[in-house]
Amino acid sequence: MLERTLAIIKPDGVRSRIIGEIIRRYEQGGMTPIAIRSTQLTKEQAEAFYHVHREQPFFGDLTSFMSSGPIVVLALEGEGAILRHRELMGATDPAMAADGTIRKAFGTSIDCNVVHGSDAPDTADKEITFFFKNTDLCAIT
Ligand code: ATP
Ligand code: MG
Repeated sequence: MLERTLAIIKPDGVRSRIIGEIIRRYEQGGMTPIAIRSTQLTKEQAEAFYHVHREQPFFGDLTSFMSSGPIVVLALEGEGAILRHRELMGATDPAMAADGTIRKAFGTSIDCNVVHGSDAPDTADKEITFFFKNTDLCAIT
């Protein structure tokens, strides 16, 4: 099924100058970026985006990290894009991520794990809407 998912290249990925490398992996993995922009979240915006994790002990560190520098947000489109993207990302903890995944290659800790990806169709819709207007999404395939 043709799906859309939200990807974020986190502040560590931007600092490491691997934006192009990550987008290359998305394209070679069969996904098309249908919207891309860079931004920097405020702490409040990061808290809103990761609201589902507000009770977790790592919430403060996560939202501080996510607002610590520029990020690149992308809406990706492709067959089974939600799961496909999560396969390309690898496990949350880079130490547990499979060979060949983005987090295995570039992640340095469970906090600094380079990329975010939506985990289900309803969260993908909400997360894309968090960053993009409908008119920003340009299906080019
Ligand atoms: P993301 O939502 O960023 O794509 P994910 O879906 O693999 O990652 P989640 O469970 O949604 O993982 O957690 C969101 C983020 O919170 C993770 O990317 C990670 O940086 C951080 N995180 C998750 N679990 C832990 C943990 N046990 N300790 C520290 N940080 C964690
Ligand atoms: Mg998640």
